[in-house]
Amino acid sequence: MKLIMLGAPGAGKGTQAKMIAEKYSIPHVSTGDIFRANIKNGTELGIEAKKYMDQGQLVPDELTVKILLDRVAQEDCKNGYVLDGFPRTIPQAEVLDNALTELGDKVDFAINVDVPDENIIGRMGGRRACVKCGATYHVVYNAPKTEGVCDACGDKLILRADDEPETVKKRLNVYHEQTQPLIEYYGNKGILKEVDGTVDMKDVFAAICDILG
Ligand code: ADP
Ligand code: ADP
Ligand code: ZN
Repeated sequence: MKLIMLGAPGAGKGTQAKMIAEKYSIPHVSTGDIFRANIKNGTELGIEAKKYMDQGQLVPDELTVKILLDRVAQEDCKNGYVLDGFPRTIPQAEVLDNALTELGDKVDFAINVDVPDENIIGRMGGRRACVKCGATYHVVYNAPKTEGVCDACGDKLILRADDEPETVKKRLNVYHEQTQPLIEYYGNKGILKEVDGTVDMKDVFAAICDILG
């Protein structure tokens, strides 16, 4: 099963993608996580990506597409995957479609987690991310057992620099301009599924499971 998670920054794509990955035993592939791992390791890709991420801008398509295609070509992706944060532009979606078509393959569903902008700023302000393993929490809606400490690995939780309100506003603009058109793109392909992302995380997950069967 090959899935794409669509939605604004903070809509809950990562939260749902992790649960889907676990239930269906497929890898969770997050381009944001790949970029952050590269930044942490000081790679050339990380240094380049950081310039854009800090500004709330998208990393250029050439760079992003290459890392994504490399990732999904790995052995663990052969039975499917759930993409979180990719594609974010129409050209990215086209590259993925063409690559899959060449393999006689296709995306099964694009799931749009729908959350209005008004809800997003509060969600992002409360998001906390683990510096080590990338696990995500929310100070109110998904609090770790001990404040500031990752349940999964025990390392420190931080507010991502790009989750500061000013940067979130920029990211929302970028989302509306460059990413939202993908809803129509996948709608036209007949694989778009919509879920209400404003309800409790477990209810969002239940709606997704209904779709996936
Ligand atoms: P969020 O989960 O809050 O939407 P991500 O972790 O997916 O954020 O992405 C963080 C940042 O990484 C984005 O703001 C962007 O700069 C960069 N990024 C991640 N995925 C892509 C992509 N597919 N195309 C371009 N930039 C990306
Ligand atoms: P995205 O990957 O789309 O950027 P995340 O999954 O990281 O979004 O979620 C953003 C923040 O909102 C996190 O702090 C997460 O714990 C929280 N969150 C996710 N889903 C919900 C929900 N249904 N209700 C309330 N908060 C949520
Ligand atoms: Zn951790």
